[in-house]
Amino acid sequence: MAGIYLHIPFCKSKCAYCDFYSIANNTHIDEFINAICKEIKLQTEFLDNEKVQTIYFGGGTPSMLSRNQIERILDEINKHFIVDAHNEITLEANPDDLSKEYLKSLKELGVNRLSVGIQSFDDKDLQLMKRKHSVSQAVRAINNAQDAGFENISVDLIYGLPDLKIENWEKNINEALDLNIQHISAYHLTIEPNTLFHKLSKNKKLNLPTENKSLEQFKRLVEKIEKNGFLQYEISNFAKDGSISLHNSNYWMGVKYLGLGPSAHSYNLTSRQWNISNLRAYLDSISNGKVPFKIEKLTENEKYNDFVITSLRTMWGVNTEKLKKDFGDKYEKDFLTKTKNLIEKKLLINSGNQFKLTQKGVFISDNIIQEFLYV
Ligand code: SF4
Repeated sequence: MAGIYLHIPFCKSKCAYCDFYSIANNTHIDEFINAICKEIKLQTEFLDNEKVQTIYFGGGTPSMLSRNQIERILDEINKHFIVDAHNEITLEANPDDLSKEYLKSLKELGVNRLSVGIQSFDDKDLQLMKRKHSVSQAVRAINNAQDAGFENISVDLIYGLPDLKIENWEKNINEALDLNIQHISAYHLTIEPNTLFHKLSKNKKLNLPTENKSLEQFKRLVEKIEKNGFLQYEISNFAKDGSISLHNSNYWMGVKYLGLGPSAHSYNLTSRQWNISNLRAYLDSISNGKVPFKIEKLTENEKYNDFVITSLRTMWGVNTEKLKKDFGDKYEKDFLTKTKNLIEKKLLINSGNQFKLTQKGVFISDNIIQEFLYV
């Protein structure tokens, strides 16, 4: 099984924290649709005839695409790849795009999972982040999606925001839970270079939380969300009723994926490649019949480190039988040696061959994962 990711590089405006490749100008959207359809054809061989289990429209703002544009892309994928009948098709959407009519057409096209960028249930925070929607639009969007029959809806939330008090964060979590959705992705704000927040933070105009406050917010998130029947299946991802994101889980399980569109990444078990992050250069290259990408062959250490990093972030953890089979005795020995101290400190537990972070370990996962890297 394999996955396809489509990067839709258009947004209505740029959010204050975002460093994903996107442009706030949709003049070239039709030209882009022609190009990505052509890229689908050019990349037919990439997945070696493996069945496509998941299709993910990310970006950027995929909900800026019209029904016809999404349909053209899906038709092209179906024409050139073997798509599993029980596939998962996710579309990332901004709340202000989710009208009843639009949602009905997404449903008709086979989109069966929505990932909605709500980020906060406080209008003040939304304005600070330069989001285009309001809280009432966000709530309406989810209600519309449920009325249209969507049964797998995820919302994104951001914590660690400037001046965010614990009680306001808790209110955010409650509002998300009240929407009766199946999935929540919650990320800590990171200040990325070349963003408005980076500029403000450099000029000391953002009151960012201390590490302790961030940790408190994360702990509150995990507590509240688990009490409400969600399973933390990855550090930042929570699902109810088995609604785990298949697409993202496959990334973490090391499944092959093909990324299409500017800045999209692909992986085929032995190498990683990424398309150029420039729409004009992408369009010109594709019109000349060439996918503009750079490639990196993965060394054995890199493959192993990717495996450990991604596995430890999930609730399944590391399976040493698989580790040994895929990487050999040397890596298994190194891994097992490093587990001892962490098990004593109750940061890691094992059941037979399965090693995973404890709740205590999850809170300092970045440091623990660093210890496991093979250099
Ligand atoms: S956060 Fe989403 S909507 Fe905002 S600029 Fe980034 S990709 Fe666009």
